[in-house]
Amino acid sequence: MQKLILFFSFVLIGSGALAQRDTAAFTKFNSFNNSVLNGGIKKAEAQKQFDMVLKRINLLEMLRAERIQPKLQWVFPLKGYKSGAIGGTHGNGYFDKGYRYLDGNKHGAHPAHDIFINDRNQDCIDDHTQKPVDVIAVDDGWVIACTNQWEPNSNMRGGKFIWIYHPATHIFTYYAHNNQIFVKPGGYVTQGQKIAEVGRTGYNAYKKRSPTHLHFSAFKLADGIPVPYNPYEQLKKAKTL
Ligand SMILES: [Zn+2]
Repeated sequence: MQKLILFFSFVLIGSGALAQRDTAAFTKFNSFNNSVLNGGIKKAEAQKQFDMVLKRINLLEMLRAERIQPKLQWVFPLKGYKSGAIGGTHGNGYFDKGYRYLDGNKHGAHPAHDIFINDRNQDCIDDHTQKPVDVIAVDDGWVIACTNQWEPNSNMRGGKFIWIYHPATHIFTYYAHNNQIFVKPGGYVTQGQKIAEVGRTGYNAYKKRSPTHLHFSAFKLADGIPVPYNPYEQLKKAKTL
C-alpha cells in the first residue's frame, strides 16, 4: 500500500514538473514560429523544433488519464455556420502550389479556405445574432502557437492566429484573422471548444475590401515540417455546433 502511495505521489509530482517544463517547450516553439514569420529559419531548425514540441505532446498524452480518441468527423470551425459559408465555388479558394511553411509571412498561394460570416458593416458582430461569432476547435488537440497581438499598421498577414496539433490524426489546423483569442501555447482544447472570435486582424483581412472571415488551413507533417492539404471534404462533412 505504502509503495502504491509512493508510486502515485511520484507520478503526480512527476507530471506537475513535466507540465512546467512543457510550458517552456511550448513557449519556445511559439517564439520559433514567430521567427519563421519574420523570416530566416533553416529547414533543419524547423524540423528540430517541430520534433521537440511533438515529443512533448506525446509525453503529455502518455500521462493523460483519457487518451485522445480519433473522432470520426470534425465540427465546423465557426459556431452556427456550415460549409456553405466557405468562399469560392466548391472550395476553389484553396490553392497550395508554391506555399512553404518556412517562407513565413512572405509565403505564396492560399492553402486555406476563407469562411465568411454575416457582417455587412464589418464590426465583427454577426448581423443575424448580434453577437461575435465563435471560432471553435475542429478536433481535440494542443495549442502549439498563437498570438493575441496585432496592430492595424502591422504587415503580418495572419493577424491574431492559432495553430493546433491534433495528436490522434497527426494533423495541424490553423485559424487566422481572429478578433481575440482565448488560448495559450501548451493549452489543451477539446473538439468544439471556443478558441477565439472571428475578426479582421491581418494585413489583407483588415482592409475594407475584405469581408469578415476566418482563414482556415490544415496541414500534415512531411519531412518534419507542416505541409498543407485541402480539408474541403472534412469541412463539408463537419457537424455544425
Ligand atoms: Zn485566407
